[in-house]
Amino acid sequence: MSAPAAGLQTSQHYIDGEWAEPGSSETIAVINPTTEQVMGSVPAGTAADVDLAVAAANTAAESWAVLEPMDRATICTAIGMRLQDRAEEIAGLISMELGSPITQSMMIQAALPAISFTSMEHLVEHLPWQQTIGNSLVLREPAGTVAAITPWNYPLHQVAAKVAPAMTAGCTVVVKPSEVTPLSAFILAEIIDEVAVPAGVFNMVTGTGPVVGEAMAAHPGVDMVSFTGSTRAGSRVSELAAASVKPVTLELGGKSANVILDDADLETAVIDGIEKCFINGGQTCSALTRMIVPKASLPMVEAIASAAVEQTKVGDPADPATDIGPMVSEFQRERIRSYIQTGIDEGARLICGGVESPDGLDTGYFVRPTVFSDVTAEMTIAQEEIFGPVLVIMAAEDENDAIEIANSTPYGLAGGVWSADEERAKRVARRMRTGQVEINGGAFNPLAPFGGRGMSGHGRELGPYGIEHFLTLKSLQL
Ligand code: NAD
Repeated sequence: MSAPAAGLQTSQHYIDGEWAEPGSSETIAVINPTTEQVMGSVPAGTAADVDLAVAAANTAAESWAVLEPMDRATICTAIGMRLQDRAEEIAGLISMELGSPITQSMMIQAALPAISFTSMEHLVEHLPWQQTIGNSLVLREPAGTVAAITPWNYPLHQVAAKVAPAMTAGCTVVVKPSEVTPLSAFILAEIIDEVAVPAGVFNMVTGTGPVVGEAMAAHPGVDMVSFTGSTRAGSRVSELAAASVKPVTLELGGKSANVILDDADLETAVIDGIEKCFINGGQTCSALTRMIVPKASLPMVEAIASAAVEQTKVGDPADPATDIGPMVSEFQRERIRSYIQTGIDEGARLICGGVESPDGLDTGYFVRPTVFSDVTAEMTIAQEEIFGPVLVIMAAEDENDAIEIANSTPYGLAGGVWSADEERAKRVARRMRTGQVEINGGAFNPLAPFGGRGMSGHGRELGPYGIEHFLTLKSLQL
């Protein structure tokens, strides 16, 4: 893999249509999780940088809002095409800063952001921008200046899933990418600069959550906050935004259940379920981390799972054969190991994996893909988001018991159901308290609404609902 971000400027914020010198000389190092070496750095932004970015966004708001939605969407298409052109560079950079295996980086990390931007023209055509209700004309108008705060696990996708629809809706944006994997967002800023998006429509300030993120959430010039990240930080953002009564949308963590019913093809369901749990090293908010299976099938499920994990290749994310790269940071690796130890201590049965480093991988933040069985609903590993390649297998007495277990965590983001009878699977899916459920391995749809319930947050991103997210309604009585 070539040098990271060769030629990519990452030492300045992007404010008011140009690269802007940070208010402070402090920087944040970006660590390559495979080598444990510093691979770059970004400015540690301050509240003063946020003030400048919000002021630029406020100034640009009116002239951007009055453009036709299709004109804004056309600009997004131009951005999306350039993201497509730079897909290999983006995938390589994200594999280095995050540790995501290169095949997954190409298919997901680089492809989805381009889709987010290029899908806007089609979506704009089908949105009801105005409606008549009796004697009223109901208008959908941009929410204003949006603060977008994003996590490290799908770094450019999460930025694009907010910036593309917000810009299309007519909002101006101040984005703060995660300080753990901030580099790929600079490629987007560079592209936005090249396609001459009007100054102030897109602004980017890097820095930590407690400094830059909190300044954004609390800022009186921000009209709306769109947050993706942990439940803990999301709750803090809501608290800060409440003082100025800003709407906040929260895309938070998950502990999603994969319900395999007694008539399902076990081999297919278990192997697919393992992939859906381990994707991106298990660092996926919608990962199917709890596999709920009929009690009678437990020995068979365990055998299939063990065989599948044995085939899973952990190693260098640059190698196309790798299934799981390193975890994003030492902090995350230690957190995952401590959950594995807690699982053992609480009496769950380890089928494969464990707390030790994988053989021959002493450098890099690697963990062993791990599967527990005999996991019960009250155990910590069945309740809390681990955010690593750790699957828990739980036995259910029958269909009702499986649904009860599926709904037994405070989260409600995603889920899966497997059955030979699709109607039965849909009936079960309707009873799951989550934002989305895949039936028999149904593919991720980047245009379907994505978001959660309960501690997984509220609001929906992607597709037409992702644009709605950034609109507010006005009624004209005629
Ligand atoms: P995190 O909450 O630590 O950080 C997310 C973002 O919030 C970062 O930009 C961070 O700097 C910022 N932040 C942190 N503390 C803040 C504060 N006090 N005020 C304002 N901003 C703050 O989360 P993470 O570790 O980067 O990401 C992992 C989490 O994100 C997991 O829980 C995962 O499930 C969740 N996630 C959810 C979705 C979803 O769509 N539901 C998608 C991806 C990740």
